Amino acid sequence: MVRLISLACVGFATAANAQEPEKPYAGHKQVRLPMATRAVMEAIEPLSPDIWTHSIVPLRPVDMRLSPEQYERFLETGLAHHVVVDDLQALVDSELARIAERSRLDEVGWYEEYRTLEEYWERWREIVGLNPSVATLETIGQSLEGRDMPSIVLNGDGREGKPVFIINACQHAREWVSPAATTYVIEQLVIGYGSDARITRLLDELEWVFLPMVNPDGFDFTWTDQRFWRKNKRLVDARLFGVDLNRNWDYEWGGAGSSGSPSSGTYRGTAPFSEPELEAFIDAIDRVRGRVVGHLDVHTFSQLVLSPWGYTTSSPANIAELTELGDIFARGVLDATGARYEVGPASTTLYLLSGNATDWFHGALGAASWTIELRPMGPISLPGFDPPPDQILPAGQELLEGTLRLAEEFVRHPADLDRDGVLTIFDFLRFQKLWVTQDPRGDVDKDGAFTAADFHAFHEIFRR
Ligand SMILES: [Zn+2]
Repeated sequence: MVRLISLACVGFATAANAQEPEKPYAGHKQVRLPMATRAVMEAIEPLSPDIWTHSIVPLRPVDMRLSPEQYERFLETGLAHHVVVDDLQALVDSELARIAERSRLDEVGWYEEYRTLEEYWERWREIVGLNPSVATLETIGQSLEGRDMPSIVLNGDGREGKPVFIINACQHAREWVSPAATTYVIEQLVIGYGSDARITRLLDELEWVFLPMVNPDGFDFTWTDQRFWRKNKRLVDARLFGVDLNRNWDYEWGGAGSSGSPSSGTYRGTAPFSEPELEAFIDAIDRVRGRVVGHLDVHTFSQLVLSPWGYTTSSPANIAELTELGDIFARGVLDATGARYEVGPASTTLYLLSGNATDWFHGALGAASWTIELRPMGPISLPGFDPPPDQILPAGQELLEGTLRLAEEFVRHPADLDRDGVLTIFDFLRFQKLWVTQDPRGDVDKDGAFTAADFHAFHEIFRR
């Protein structure tokens, strides 16, 4: 572990890419605008800042990184702001020093400090080794720079053809809490199988597919060169720009909230699914495509549970159900740690996002899908991507409980609409209400109309 950390530090000092300065964030500031409005966002866009607020919500603060030159130009806008961190390089240097120091200590638990890509692989192998009859670790392909991409499949009793729950992490390289919390969830599920009745049932009734590191090149780069790198490592005209993987998905690709300019933080690439990381992702799930019932795309930060759509402000037909399920996730989070996550469609945010994973899983596969923004809530006095390492474990506990609650929903009897575990007249009354309000769940026979046939169809499910 010590060896890996010191290698990372050497890599940092000698910067593999000669174009990059040795101290890429010297004099860079974290700047906070007190409230986002469309006018504010349009004023800062030409400055090409590195916006750090993941989902830009009207009238909420927006954080960004500005180089000394960008900050000079920013001052000319006269926008009210405050400088949260004056020198981000000092912050990054002290973070790496802290990690090198603490990682030497045996008493520092695995989830009590940030971990390198090598440490992740070691941990995934250990987790799978705890119960190889339930968990398998596979390399699903290679990233642009040839790094292996992991997938961990959990299937309790090994039956084929079950409903599938897919959870992926770390599309965005700098969001270090995302793969950490997701790895914690995998670990708890593997440990719990056979000893925890609830987890045992959920691993027997669902097949779980985890892709805990979708952007390994970018993630590694955040350790060796640029802590706040977001995209993959795509070169454009031999220069490093990177594609934002979460704008490269093949559903409503290329629309609002994605950029055609390689220098943008939300550069969508030259075509949908142009990036090998997503090609590997899609190939890996091809075998389960028709069975995916749920999907989570795990990011940090802001404490949000965001349902489709991201590409448009209009809502999908089943928005009521997606919101209900999102609330159930958030309730699990609250019960786990007391943290509050806000639930809503991604498009309630000020800026749209086209070509994102959640829209693809819902639009192309019909799965219930959410973008999860883990803690911290922000704004905090540190970059939200860089909370103190004591935030990793609670983030994992929150993600675990929210995820288990959703999984319970995916295996619930389809006629148990009031979620009390028994089928009664109250479930019939719930169905009637859904039918009257023309909620898609009331169209039980899926013929697009609300007719008497839906009552018969519901009765059939009820008796099953
Ligand atoms: Zn992200």
